[in-house]
Amino acid sequence: MGQITRLDRNMINMIAAGEVIERPASVVKELLENSIDSGATRICVHLEDGGRKLIAVQDNGCGMDGEDLEKAFETHATSKIHSSDDLQHIATLGFRGEALASISSVAQVRAVTRVKDANEAHCLEIDCGEFKPISPCSGDCGTHIQIRDLFYKLPARRKFLRTASTELGHITEQFTRIALAHRDLHLELHHNKRELYRLDSGESLPTRISKLFPALSDQVQTNLIEAHASEKDVTLFALLGSPELSRSNNKFQYAFLNGRFIRDKLITHAIKQAYRGLLDPNRHPVAFVFMTMPYEAYDVNVHPTKVEVRFFQSNLVHSQVQGVLREVLLAQDLNVHAKLPDPSHESVYELPGVSRSPSDRREQVAEAMSTFFKTHRPSVDAPRGPSFSPGSHVTKSQSFQPIDPPVTMDDQGSFERMESVVDRFAQEPVHSHPFLQVHDSYLLVQTDEGFVIIDQHALHEKILYERLVTRTDQAPLESQRLLIPEPLELTESQSAALEQHSGILEKLGIDVVPFGPRTFAVQSFPTLLGKTSIGTFVTDLIDTLTEHQDSEPKQLLDAVLSMAACKAAIKAGNRLSDTEIRELLADDEKAESSFRCPHGRPTTIRFTLAELEKQFHRT
Ligand code: ADP
Ligand code: MG
Repeated sequence: MGQITRLDRNMINMIAAGEVIERPASVVKELLENSIDSGATRICVHLEDGGRKLIAVQDNGCGMDGEDLEKAFETHATSKIHSSDDLQHIATLGFRGEALASISSVAQVRAVTRVKDANEAHCLEIDCGEFKPISPCSGDCGTHIQIRDLFYKLPARRKFLRTASTELGHITEQFTRIALAHRDLHLELHHNKRELYRLDSGESLPTRISKLFPALSDQVQTNLIEAHASEKDVTLFALLGSPELSRSNNKFQYAFLNGRFIRDKLITHAIKQAYRGLLDPNRHPVAFVFMTMPYEAYDVNVHPTKVEVRFFQSNLVHSQVQGVLREVLLAQDLNVHAKLPDPSHESVYELPGVSRSPSDRREQVAEAMSTFFKTHRPSVDAPRGPSFSPGSHVTKSQSFQPIDPPVTMDDQGSFERMESVVDRFAQEPVHSHPFLQVHDSYLLVQTDEGFVIIDQHALHEKILYERLVTRTDQAPLESQRLLIPEPLELTESQSAALEQHSGILEKLGIDVVPFGPRTFAVQSFPTLLGKTSIGTFVTDLIDTLTEHQDSEPKQLLDAVLSMAACKAAIKAGNRLSDTEIRELLADDEKAESSFRCPHGRPTTIRFTLAELEKQFHRT
C-alpha cells in the first residue's frame, strides 16, 4: 500500500527522452524538423565535439513570442495538432510535442527566438529541466537553440555516447536525410568551426547528391536513372543507380514520403524486386525514392521518432513502386559495353593506302566483319558435345528442342536442307545476323552497330529464370509424369524440409511421394527443366530450401527459381548446333530483360564499330 507515486514532470520527460533522444544526432534531427515546420528557408547547424559539447541550430522561421517560448518546452506541448481529427492528416514533421521537453530535461538549453515584427527577442535557459525566467534580449527573426553537454547529469547515458567522429557520422546521416527531402532549403553544417556542408536552396537533386555523397559525385550524371510517375493521388520520383553502382549494404537507399525520410521494409523490398535479375542478390542498389500521397493514406504515429509509417494500402504502394522502377530500369541499355584500352597509349601504325574517312572506315569494318563471319561460319549443325548426349546431367530444355531435324554433313541433300534453314532465318531479321560459337562457351553475334559476345550459360540461365518466374506466377509449372519414378534417399531433416515446403514443390510441378522408411520417389518433374538430373536437382532444391528457410516466401521462391535456372541452363563447354544457337538468340530477343543473369553477372558484352575503329586507329 502506498507504493505508487506519480512521477514528476521532469522524470516523465527524462523517460520520454530515453525514446526520442538517443544521441546528439537525434537532437539535430528534432531541431531541424522544428525549424522546417516553422517555415524557415535557411538553417545553420553548428557542432562541437561531435555534438557532445554543443549543438546549435539557427533558423529564419516564424519564431515564437515569450508565451509560446515557455510552453514549447513543456511536456506534450505543440502548436501542430489540436484535436484527434488532426492526427488523421499530419502535414508537419513534428506533432507529438515532446522533443523540446525531452531535450531540455537531459541537457543545458538556451533558446533565443523572435517573431517577425516584434521589437525584441526572448531568451529562455533550462538546465536539465530547471527553467530560468524568460528574459527579453536582442536577436534575429527566427529561432536559435543551443544544446550543451547532452546527458551530462546522466552518466549512464553519457557513457553510451561514442567518439566525436562516430557521433558526427550519425549527425551527418540525419542532416543528409533532411537535405535530400528539402531541396528548397539553404542548409549549412559546421563542426568545430569548420564548414562541412553548404547546400544552396533550390539546387538540383543530382547536385545535392554529389555534395552529400562525394563517392557518387563522378557518377550522378551518367549512372543515375530518373523515374517519374503519377497515378491518382500518388506521385513518385526516383533517381536509381545503374547496376554498376551497387553496394554491399543498403545504406545508399533513401525513401521519402511527403518530405519525411522513412525506413520501410515494403519500399526496400519493392526496390529490391525492381532490380531483380539486374543485380547479384547480395548487392544493393543505390536508390533515392521520393513519394507524395495524401496524408490520410498512411499513419505516421506508429514510432516515437516517426521514422516508420503504416500505409493503409500497402500492397498497392508496393506494386506501384516496384512497377514504376522496374519499367524504367528495363527500358535502359544496361548492357555491359566493352572497355578496351585507350588506343592513344599505343604505338600508331599508319596503314599505307587506307583512306581515313570515318564513314568509309565504318563500311570497310562492317564488310570485313561480315566476310569474317561468313568464312568462319560453322557447319549448320556441328556435332554435339558430349554433354548433350542422352542421359547426361545437362538439360535440353524446351527452348532447345530442335525446330528442324538435325542436319549433318553426310545427310543426303544436305545442301538443300541447309539452304532452306538459312532462308527461313533470313526472313526473320531478329536472329539472321551471322554468329559463331567460340570455345564451346561464347557466342559472337554480329549486330547492326558492331558485334556482341554472349556468355551462353549466363544468357540461357537468365531466359529460363524469367520464364520460370512468369510461369510460376500464374499456375504450377507444367510437369511430366515419369515412366520410371526416380528414387531418393533422404535424411530426417531433408524430408521434413520437403514437407514444410510442399507448396513450393507443387508450384514447380514436382511430385515426391514416400516409398520406404527413408526412401522417396519423384513421380513427376517440370518439362521446362527438361532432362536435368532429377535426383541431384531435388537434393539441391532441399539444400536451397533449408538455406533460405528464414526468408520471406517470395524471396524463398526466388532463390529456388534462380537455382533451378542455373541447374537447367546449358553450360559453358557445351557445343551448340546452329539451330540451338538461333533458338537461344531468338529467345534472347523475346526476353523481358536479359542483360544480366540472375546472379547479376552480365550475359552480353557489346562491341561497337566506333570502338573498333578507334582501336585500329581508323578514325
Ligand atoms: P512538436 O514539434 O512535435 O510540436 P516540439 O517539442 O519539437 O514538438 O516543439 C514544440 C513546439 O515548439 C512546436 O509545436 C512549435 O510550436 C514550437 N517550436 C519548436 N521549435 C521551433 C522553431 N524552431 N521555430 C518556431 N517554433 C518552434
Ligand atoms: Mg518537433
